[in-house]
Amino acid sequence: MNTEKSERLYKEALKFMPGGVNSPVRACRSVEKTPLFIDRAAGSKIYDVDGNEYIDYVCSWGPNILGHGNSEVIEAVKNACNGGLTFGACHKGEIELAQLIQKNIPSMEMLRLVNSGTEAVMSAVRAARGFTHRDKVVKFEGCYHGHSDGLLVKAGSGLLTNSIPDSAGVPKSYTDNTLTAVYNDEMSVKELFEKYGADIACIIVEPCAANMGVVPPKEGFLRFLRDITKENGALLIFDEVITGFRLSLGGAQKYYGVTPDLTTLGKIVGGGMPLAVYGGKREVMECVAPLGSVYQAGTLSGNPIAVSAGIAALKALERDKDLYDRLDKKAKRLGESMKLAGLNFNREGSLLTVFFTDEKVVDYSTAKKSDCKKFALFYSYLLENGIYAAPSQFEAMFVSDAHSDLDIEYTCKVISEFTL
Ligand SMILES: *Cc1c(COP(=O)(O)O)cnc(C)c1O
Repeated sequence: MNTEKSERLYKEALKFMPGGVNSPVRACRSVEKTPLFIDRAAGSKIYDVDGNEYIDYVCSWGPNILGHGNSEVIEAVKNACNGGLTFGACHKGEIELAQLIQKNIPSMEMLRLVNSGTEAVMSAVRAARGFTHRDKVVKFEGCYHGHSDGLLVKAGSGLLTNSIPDSAGVPKSYTDNTLTAVYNDEMSVKELFEKYGADIACIIVEPCAANMGVVPPKEGFLRFLRDITKENGALLIFDEVITGFRLSLGGAQKYYGVTPDLTTLGKIVGGGMPLAVYGGKREVMECVAPLGSVYQAGTLSGNPIAVSAGIAALKALERDKDLYDRLDKKAKRLGESMKLAGLNFNREGSLLTVFFTDEKVVDYSTAKKSDCKKFALFYSYLLENGIYAAPSQFEAMFVSDAHSDLDIEYTCKVISEFTL
């Protein structure tokens, strides 16, 4: 595999950006590789600047559920561009997107469009605090909710890989109100509510964790979170930035049959453009400015180009009744090949992670037992065989509708032949 051009570009990038990247995991540090520079992507494939072709299971970390460059999405974006790139004012598309979201995720009675998952979560937590007049937030170890100050406590993803327990630059006082519990461990949540019950504004959770690798919720866990928040006058926030429109058209809440008070969406909802959403119960969202006193704003929020991409993507997902079944079948095949290779993996719908530990991974501490050196070997093996996966143990493989049966069967063959 020739990666000369990527290497040259990376040297150049290092002069301008910390680690040469605009988001840390992309630097491929934990797998000790030079990042590939991408030239273009189409369907299930991604191409680097040296002309190598890969089957892509990163899918831009989730958004590309329809594959790269879906023609309807591209067409919608082109049309929107002809009308101007940003207005900073109301337009019809905002309503259309809101309707599409609400129709599929009815718990989002009122919502607001923002620009990133980080912003959506930060704003949802602020709304929860404003509504309840309480300060404390319960999050789970290994769950990632973006990089806002208060939530960078035992966060997953890049922070796990780089072993930065918390971020520098976050004053201790900013995380004083962040309480951490253990994912899938009801006792750990109960204890926090016994101690701080009257001060807890909300629980925020990835309904299926995917930022410590994929870790599905145990039977009854989400229902338990629903009940304990209700009993204590706290709100339940599902961070569905990954799971929204991924596990089902109605997100994780439909998939597991548990309804939160507030939901955050990102990734898929923007159809590949920077767009995210927070929303939920009407009475909570009515606390947000200008109706209420919880301030939140955005110059580019509701950007017409991003909105057009979101609408086109959601319409395509909505129209195709078999899509989620197909995704599930393809992911199931990948899982079978992992089993054949004797690999330990978790799968939920079209999300998969291989772990290099003998134990079943159910939370952050079991995920952390995975041998990242072995993961790095697995990663390199896949890459050398033309398969592009996330360069970190603590991420998911994403299956898209563009992955053909041929792509899947080839990938299965490669995975099933993996040996350490
Ligand atoms: C990706 C992600 C975020 C952050 O979204 P950005 O758009 O990267 O800011 C938040 N929560 C979850 C669950 C995510 O996977």
